[in-house]
Amino acid sequence: MSIQVRHVTKTFGQYAALKDVNLDIPDGELVALLGPSGSGKTTLLRIIAGLEVPDANPETQILFHDQDVAARAVGDRRVGFVFQHYALFRHMSVFDNIAFGLRVRPRASRPSKGDIRARVHELLKLIQLENLGDRYPSELSGGQRQRVALARALAIEPKVLLLDEPFGALDAKVRQGLRRWLRDLHDKIHITSVLVTHDQEEALEVADRVVVMRQARIEQQGTPEEVFHHPASEFVMDFLGHVNLFHGRVDAGRAVFDGLAVDHAAGDAANGKAAKLLVRPHELELFREPNGNHSVKATVTRVHRAGPSVKVELNGPEGRELFVELTHERFAQAPVAAGDTAYVSPRATRVFVQDFSI
Ligand code: ADP
Ligand code: MG
Repeated sequence: MSIQVRHVTKTFGQYAALKDVNLDIPDGELVALLGPSGSGKTTLLRIIAGLEVPDANPETQILFHDQDVAARAVGDRRVGFVFQHYALFRHMSVFDNIAFGLRVRPRASRPSKGDIRARVHELLKLIQLENLGDRYPSELSGGQRQRVALARALAIEPKVLLLDEPFGALDAKVRQGLRRWLRDLHDKIHITSVLVTHDQEEALEVADRVVVMRQARIEQQGTPEEVFHHPASEFVMDFLGHVNLFHGRVDAGRAVFDGLAVDHAAGDAANGKAAKLLVRPHELELFREPNGNHSVKATVTRVHRAGPSVKVELNGPEGRELFVELTHERFAQAPVAAGDTAYVSPRATRVFVQDFSI
C-alpha cells in the first residue's frame, strides 16, 4: 500500500472539512477523489501533501509506504503537484520551467547540467512537446501548459503525484483529449496518483479507483464499474450520471411506483415505508402500449436523434420529467414523436427504501 490515511479529521474554526476519513491508495494506481464542491477533496489532498495539518488525534496517521510522514516537511515527502491554474513561471521558457525543481535542489543532490538537460528532454518527449522547449508559457495553449505543469511536477521523480482539478479550466474538447493522454501516461509510468475532480465522467474514464466524497466523508469507493453499477446510496447514483426518480411505497414484498411494481426482498420491516426507484436513461424501455403492471404512462415532449443514441424526454406522472436513451435501432422499431403517449418501463432498477437499499 502506497498511501494510508487513518482517522483524519480537519476543522476550520467550527467547520469540519473532513470527518474521520480513512483511505488506502495502492501502489501505482490512479485514484480519483470525486465529489461536489466543498466536500473536502482539496483538503484531503493537501493533508496528504503535507500542506495542511490534520486535527490533533492520537489515532491519526498519514503513511507513505508504511512510514509515518506526519512529521516530515512538504519538501521531504517527494510529492509532485499539478493544480487547476497552471502555476508556470511566465518569465521562464518551457525548458527552464521543467528544470526548475532540479536546479533548486541543494548542491549535494543536484544533478549535473548535462543530466538536467537529458532529464528535461526525456520529459518533453513524454508530454509530446519535444520541439517546444524554447517557448514561453504565453505561447502555448491551455492544454499544452497543463502538460508542461505535469512534466515539471514529474521532474523531481516524485513518489506520488497529486492533481487538483488539473483540467478544470480547459474547454470540454481539450479536457477530453488530456484525460485520455493522462491515462496513457499513467499506464506508461505507473506513478501513484491522486486526481481530484468534480467531473464524474473524468473520474470514471481515467481512474483505477473512484473515491466518492460527500460532506467531509467518503461515501463510497470502488472501481469505476462498481460505483457506477452498484452505487451504495442515492447520492452516489445521482452524482454519477443522470437518473430518473420515481417515488413510491413498499407493500407486501413489492415496491410500487406510479403503476410500476418492482419485487424486492427487504422483508416485512420495510412495509409501508417510502421508497425511491432510480433508473438511468439507458435502463428504460419505451413502448407504444402498456406493458402489464411494469410501465408508467407518459407524454413525449421532445426527441433528440442527432447523436450516437436517441434521447427521448417525456412528461410522466405528476408532471415529472423522464429521460429515456435508446439505440437508433431500438427507436426505429417503435418510433415516437412529441405529443405521443408512450409507456416507460425499467429494465434495471435500483430501489432505495429509507435507510437501506435493495
Ligand atoms: P472541495 O475541494 O471538495 O471543493 P475543500 O476541501 O476545498 O472542498 O473544502 C471543504 C470545506 O472546507 C469547504 O466548505 C471550504 O469552505 C472549507 N475550507 C477549506 N479550506 C479552508 C480554509 N483554509 N479555511 C476555512 N475553511 C476552509
Ligand atoms: Mg477543491
